[in-house]
Amino acid sequence: MNFSIKATIRAFVAPEHRIVCSKRFWDHILVELARRGGQRTESGVFLLGVNRGVYREVLDAIFYDDLDPDAYSSGVCVLHGEAFAKLWTACREKKMTVVADAHTHPAGAFQSSSDKENPMVARAGHVAIIIPNFARPPLQRRSIRIYEYCGQHDWIDRSPKIAPGYFYTGLWS
Ligand SMILES: [Zn+2]
Repeated sequence: MNFSIKATIRAFVAPEHRIVCSKRFWDHILVELARRGGQRTESGVFLLGVNRGVYREVLDAIFYDDLDPDAYSSGVCVLHGEAFAKLWTACREKKMTVVADAHTHPAGAFQSSSDKENPMVARAGHVAIIIPNFARPPLQRRSIRIYEYCGQHDWIDRSPKIAPGYFYTGLWS
């Protein structure tokens, strides 16, 4: 279907959407996060994309362990400066920006104090997605948590429970 028809329908069914990702690509990301964490460690990914006016579209992804093979070795996701240098180079080459990051937690998807204090990208408007149970299926969409960074270690909860269409992976993505 043509891009503008989809955008028109989406504006109607999910007027609050700010990030759009095709369901197929999001499902692939969840499978990869579960596989890479091996049900033993957290795993994470940067979602890359482009700005399309009021929303951003996810078109690509870079997993933390592709930036640093040791990213999960402590059990939680840790990235150092060199990994970020690789990330920014990839963004430049692909002409994309980091739309969001997503990482798994062993149990619930609540933000840890470390998640709150250390945004992966400390820029207002950056979005952090947390996926429970190491992304093990079956995953209820309402069980993931989504937080938008406002700066100064302050976040707004944009989770599906509160803002169902904010991160849109539905039929019209
Ligand atoms: Zn976390």
